[in-house]
Amino acid sequence: MIRSALIIGAGVAGPAAALAMQKAGIDPIVFEADPESADGVGVFLTVASNGIDALRVLGADRAVLAAGFPTPGITLRSSTGEALGVGKTGQTLPDGTLSQTIRRSDLYRALYRQAADRGIRFEHGKRLVAAEDRGNAVRAVFADGSEATADILIGCDGVHSTVRRIIDPAAPAPAYARLLTTGGYARGVRVGTEPGSYEMIFGKRAFFGYAVAPDADVWWFANLARRTEPGRAELAAVSPGELRRSLLELYADDAGPANALIAASPDIMPLTPIHTLGHLPTWHRSRMIVIGDAAHAPSPTSGQGASLSVEDAIVLAKCLRDLPTPQAAFAAFEAARRPRVEKIIKWAARINNSKVAGPFGRVVRDAMMPAIMKMTADSKALRRTFDYHLEWDAPARAAA
Ligand SMILES: Cc1cc2nc3c(=O)[nH]c(=O)nc-3n(C[C@H](O)[C@H](O)[C@H](O)COP(=O)(O)OP(=O)(O)OC[C@H]3O[C@@H](n4cnc5c(N)ncnc54)[C@H](O)[C@@H]3O)c2cc1C
Repeated sequence: MIRSALIIGAGVAGPAAALAMQKAGIDPIVFEADPESADGVGVFLTVASNGIDALRVLGADRAVLAAGFPTPGITLRSSTGEALGVGKTGQTLPDGTLSQTIRRSDLYRALYRQAADRGIRFEHGKRLVAAEDRGNAVRAVFADGSEATADILIGCDGVHSTVRRIIDPAAPAPAYARLLTTGGYARGVRVGTEPGSYEMIFGKRAFFGYAVAPDADVWWFANLARRTEPGRAELAAVSPGELRRSLLELYADDAGPANALIAASPDIMPLTPIHTLGHLPTWHRSRMIVIGDAAHAPSPTSGQGASLSVEDAIVLAKCLRDLPTPQAAFAAFEAARRPRVEKIIKWAARINNSKVAGPFGRVVRDAMMPAIMKMTADSKALRRTFDYHLEWDAPARAAA
């Protein structure tokens, strides 16, 4: 019987896993490397309808809905402002709830609060550095020299996971997606679009997206194609003023409000490289497993990373609740989750490539996009992604 779990990381997957473990009768404790909070990098993200549906299983959907705003649709545009097509970020749930856009820090905080309010213990300033299977338990060692022991260890430590390397020292490293990202919140710019819909622009030199929040602030992000990954020192050397100036130059020839929004944002998030993790051969070993971005990180373009992390947490808890050993539960979890997440990763990689197209690729992309959008708007693949629904009471099945 599995009674206790060490959860590494308090981003999205960590608190969700803690809530799910507690619901399954397993005692969780969460260890987060950050000394104070795990507000994470990145400005905002979309929790798709499947993610909201999964949060509902944990009773954590309301907290997230309260901090976000609905964004069900996307309009894609070319650099001249021509509409290339419309898409969806999710489906409408039976009670009318739609996909939500939320600041990353608010999502982390909402999940953390839900878990803390239910008595789940969090320890901050605990960076996992090692872990070992001791036969009938797993022992974790932290950078400050402290240790913890439990029946299982769940790595929710993100795309640059330490747990992943402990499970399999030969695990592939995350891949640089040839994109840098930044973003901000603009005040006092009227962009003429309704709250609730994203405008996404394939600019001449870079990709730009924005949505109007209910308070009329405009939330925006920029994706800059860059073939080789810049080092930390190079990125840190870009001053906020330089970043703003180079963004203004990049979007100077594009139709749309990109430059007005960049100019009207008090702060601009430092440039961050985007990493993805496609096929990870080994998700678990003995009493340790990785979930969320530590196991599979789709391109952020998918709008699915956070939602998949919450789904993972629930499926894993059900497997641990219903199957007799950690190994049987982990194998069942992997069998249930791998096909879904890898399909979404492949689909997201294709969209990601359209953001890094060269001059010739851009012409082809803009010409083909309306037809592609029409074909995919209601495709089976999209429906499979968004319609995914988890029943807490349905028993987990052992892997074949
Ligand atoms: C720019 C950007 C935009 C995105 N947009 C979207 C979107 O629109 N929709 C969507 O669904 N997803 C989006 N994503 C992806 C989404 O953010 C991730 O899929 C999600 O955060 C994964 O959650 P996680 O808990 O697995 O990892 P994280 O959220 O990365 O959390 C990992 C946590 O582990 C902690 N940690 C790391 N190492 C250790 C250690 N050794 N010991 C202890 N703690 C450790 C970290 O401090 C962090 O708090 C986006 C990502 C980026 C970068």
